Amino acid sequence: MKKFILEARINEYAMRDQNVNVPWTSDEIAETAARVREEGAAILHFHARTVDGQPLNTFEAYDEIIRKVRAKSDILILPTLGFISNDTDARRRIDNVVRLARDPVTKPDIAPIDTGSANLESFDTNTLEIGFTERLYLNTTDSLVYYAQKLKEAGVKPKLVSWSVGFTRRALMLMDCGLVDEPGYMLFHMTDGKVITGHPGTAKGLDAHLMFLPDNRNIEWTANILGGNLLALTDTIARRGGHMAIGIGDYPYPEIGHPTNEVLIREAVKIIRSAGREPATPLEAKQMLSLAS
Ligand code: ZN
Repeated sequence: MKKFILEARINEYAMRDQNVNVPWTSDEIAETAARVREEGAAILHFHARTVDGQPLNTFEAYDEIIRKVRAKSDILILPTLGFISNDTDARRRIDNVVRLARDPVTKPDIAPIDTGSANLESFDTNTLEIGFTERLYLNTTDSLVYYAQKLKEAGVKPKLVSWSVGFTRRALMLMDCGLVDEPGYMLFHMTDGKVITGHPGTAKGLDAHLMFLPDNRNIEWTANILGGNLLALTDTIARRGGHMAIGIGDYPYPEIGHPTNEVLIREAVKIIRSAGREPATPLEAKQMLSLAS
């Protein structure tokens, strides 16, 4: 059976009030990278953070983290573009990745493109309180085309991030136009908890995504749940032929005692193996996704 690519989403912009193990500093991120790699993760997705956990979008921060990670591990590197913390100019979000790609030591293997815009309000289903009513994650089609062109020039594989079926259609548009090469790497970014903009993190939410993946395209898909327990969906994902992006950046996992990222990856690997699949090494993932060397 096809190997299972595990991407570790180690921190996002999670604070430590829900799980104290969220890595923030470059040393913490590099230590975590080595440990999740040991447990079976092939790809590291991370956000640079300040010492007190705030978003950090400087080139220097990413340069330092990637050098430290690569000194300890062969895990594949997938930095953020900054998400909503870096949206003064949507086109400029790609600048760090393009600059990092000029040096083989710091060149990211993969970089995300969220193929659409989203309302990012919060909704508490118990209190019915609606928060962040003005918050918008803006990705104009102009900026998506620009990211795809820049990543292609830099030899960095795009991860096409789909929050709903319209995003998937726009990702396919980028592939149709030759801006993104096959095999596509597509993340179905489901949302639970207070975030209602994505498909629910359930088998139905996942299947609603999968129904719109065309048969005639070579696409490796992966899945995450912002604000929800992805372990509960791991067996389904493994049996549907997908891959997974899991970490305490997305959800604190109180069900298993607020674990570290490496413990979470270990638990995921147990489920993947019981479904008859093996985690891919970074080298195997590189071949499966046709990444540049
Ligand atoms: Zn992220």
